[in-house]
Amino acid sequence: MTRLAVLLGALGALAAIFLAAHELGTAGAGTRRQHPGDERTPLPVVATTGIVADAVRAVGGERLRVQTLMGPGVDPHLYKASEGDVTRMAEARAIFYGGLHLEGKMAEVLAELATRGALTVAVTDGIPRARLRRAAEFAGLYDPHVWFDVALWQEVVRTVEGALAKLDPAHAEAYRARAARHLAELRALDEEVRAKVATVPRSQRMLITAHDAFGYYGRAYGLEVHGVQGLSTAAEAGAADVQRVAELIARRRIPAIFVESSVPPRIIEALRAAVRARGFEVRVGGELYSDALGDPAGPAATYAGMVRTNTDTIVRALRGEEQRR
Ligand SMILES: [Zn+2]
Repeated sequence: MTRLAVLLGALGALAAIFLAAHELGTAGAGTRRQHPGDERTPLPVVATTGIVADAVRAVGGERLRVQTLMGPGVDPHLYKASEGDVTRMAEARAIFYGGLHLEGKMAEVLAELATRGALTVAVTDGIPRARLRRAAEFAGLYDPHVWFDVALWQEVVRTVEGALAKLDPAHAEAYRARAARHLAELRALDEEVRAKVATVPRSQRMLITAHDAFGYYGRAYGLEVHGVQGLSTAAEAGAADVQRVAELIARRRIPAIFVESSVPPRIIEALRAAVRARGFEVRVGGELYSDALGDPAGPAATYAGMVRTNTDTIVRALRGEEQRR
């Protein structure tokens, strides 16, 4: 039996249990009651990545209990749902995910949950397609890393607000107010990033990372972006990709390249070696958070914190300043 079949089997068993429990007027073992009108019980919802969870928390506040499937350092392109995840998703009132094939190995499980009546929300669904970057290597698909354009992320917040208002109309006004506050914060963040990047000399505004997560960031804030690995970490970087980017770095004398928290650093090490072989030394400018938030106690624990931390790391390194970490 395939792994997916096992998961779907677990899902089927769960559905039967919940149906039976529902008919008895209780949920699960009777310890956790969930009535639609119960004001004190937060609604259980699931978010796939920490970045998606941040938007859901920002809009939902105390009214939701948000469970996040992927913690710090976890790569969503490669992540497979565990049986525990399937249970959490089956129990949730809504499942929020990035969409645009970000969670490449969860597509079947998400589709299966949707056909069984779960509310699944791709948070990028509300972004007009014309504002998305086309994926060069996959015809007809888009770059899923929309969170690095803070203006696009505002569309995501609006989509989350709409979904929550529909799920829980009694609290629609509270969701609207929280979303409005968060959108104001995001507008300020967008301005802040723009102003910081503008302090880097134009010729040095080049962002080189292991995988191509920063295309929206480059487009929004005016940096040229090169990833060694492409849009998904699922495709291995070839030696030719490493040589191509190494040539570019040596020729343009780019001062720094960056490792990513959710991607093993070996590609960046190979790149540095290839640059050195061309007689140029490129520094590692620091670690960027690409597809996952940082540790809960650190500065990149929230979406805004992650964008700000990345921007500070990028700006400092490309201006050739000392690294603080
Ligand atoms: Zn990615």
